[in-house]
Amino acid sequence: MSPISTWRRKPFPLTDPRTDFVWEVWTDGDGVQATGPCPECRCTTRNVITETQFAAKGPSRQLREFVASAEPAYAACECTTWHLQRPDGYTSGCGASFYIAFPAHGLPL
Ligand SMILES: [Zn+2]
Ligand SMILES: [Zn+2]
Repeated sequence: MSPISTWRRKPFPLTDPRTDFVWEVWTDGDGVQATGPCPECRCTTRNVITETQFAAKGPSRQLREFVASAEPAYAACECTTWHLQRPDGYTSGCGASFYIAFPAHGLPL
């Protein structure tokens, strides 16, 4: 266990996207999520990157376009560790925000 760190707003630049996240495509819906270590607190954080409700079947056009863009996705730390001095309104995370790079081989939908 790492020592408990204090909540702190810390944005990481777009020029430094995380490459150690594992991407998963939902099989029973329309969305993708990325799981990996937060660059700030090192807790594991799972981030739902895109989520489309009411998809009939298979990936929606919206999801396809998102994946095709292959732009690093904006995410905020959503770890479940208790970080000290977490402000009201925040129920998870350490305050870090960062970008997550798409896998080099793309995402199979
Ligand atoms: Zn954390
Ligand atoms: Zn964090």
